[in-house]
Amino acid sequence: GATIGILGGGQLGRMLCVAASRLGLRCHVFEPGANPPAADVAHTVTRASYEDAEALRAFAAAVDVVTYEFENIPTSALDVIEEIVTIRPGRTALSTSQDRLTEKDFLTGLGLKTAPYAAISDLASLRSALADLASPGILKTRRFGYDGKGQARILTPDQADAAHADMAGAPALLEGFIEFSAEISVIAARGPDGSVACFDPGENVHEDGILRRTTVPTSLPAALRTDAVLIAARILNALDYVGVLGVELFVTTGGLVVNEIAPRVHNSGHWTQNGCTIDQFEQHIRAVAGWPLGDGQRHADVTMENLIGDDMARLPALAATPGAALHLYGKAETRPGRKMGHVNHVTPLS
Ligand code: ATP
Ligand code: MG
Ligand code: MG
Repeated sequence: GATIGILGGGQLGRMLCVAASRLGLRCHVFEPGANPPAADVAHTVTRASYEDAEALRAFAAAVDVVTYEFENIPTSALDVIEEIVTIRPGRTALSTSQDRLTEKDFLTGLGLKTAPYAAISDLASLRSALADLASPGILKTRRFGYDGKGQARILTPDQADAAHADMAGAPALLEGFIEFSAEISVIAARGPDGSVACFDPGENVHEDGILRRTTVPTSLPAALRTDAVLIAARILNALDYVGVLGVELFVTTGGLVVNEIAPRVHNSGHWTQNGCTIDQFEQHIRAVAGWPLGDGQRHADVTMENLIGDDMARLPALAATPGAALHLYGKAETRPGRKMGHVNHVTPLS
């Protein structure tokens, strides 16, 4: 069987390994950090830095294809790997999504709606962008932000100085605040032959910038759900994408607004593990391994709830709850804000 190389050994890498092993494939995980959750289930783990070109070459030579569980892989590491083996999803998807400015330019270039935005280099550019916006905004670092980290809300112009100081000199982007009635996401897949399959959109609730729960089906009209899927397919095709992509959208009175994209399996797609015959992890492995995409039809209503930090105290009760499917990441240490696992509350469609 083939061996899949995975950059990153967090919970997403772990669940990719589990899906690959069900298909008789092996996974070789590359991860600089100690005690990666994926190490329990990977066939091979290389623990080395992304600066270590020798280790990267050995890793690339030992696998048939390379994929990743996070988008912030250093360009230099990708260059070394790509001389030896194919990276899926490809470099365009990575370079587009590593920088919020590049990503927004790409999305608006496709004719899709995003929040109004402006690149911010210093306090003066922030002040003038705020004046242009004439409404509340969110200042975000262009790179490396996740779970709402690297963001500052600006409700009134006098909050500009503090928000700018929060960015600590990092290049930033100001976004206009979107008044949304709901947040949804589409988990979409594309194979090397260009075939596309999307999971049913899920409705997401965030707390403190972190995803709290995802529910399928959404309460949205069918036309909007179709719109969301068509938007995701347009993004996949424009990137000549291979693998699973997460697209986060705001539902507004003016239609759907794209928040951001993630070139990987996505937290808001975890419901598929218990709601579909083929889940997002297997779908991603199938795409990068060149298999046909699987049947992602939904066969249950599901609410996925993240287990964050102290939520783990509820484990005994959850383990005894009918219809609750637990997925734990094997992380030894609980910390506030740390994703420890998730639970899918499942109601089969009759
Ligand atoms: P993720 O962990 O999903 O990668 P992130 O750190 O990249 O998160 P965003 O998705 O940009 O952050 O923002 C986190 C949340 O903040 C969004 O899901 C949404 O609830 C809110 N938010 C972000 N941008 C806007 C906006 N322009 N208008 C209104 N709300 C916003
Ligand atoms: Mg993000
Ligand atoms: Mg997000």
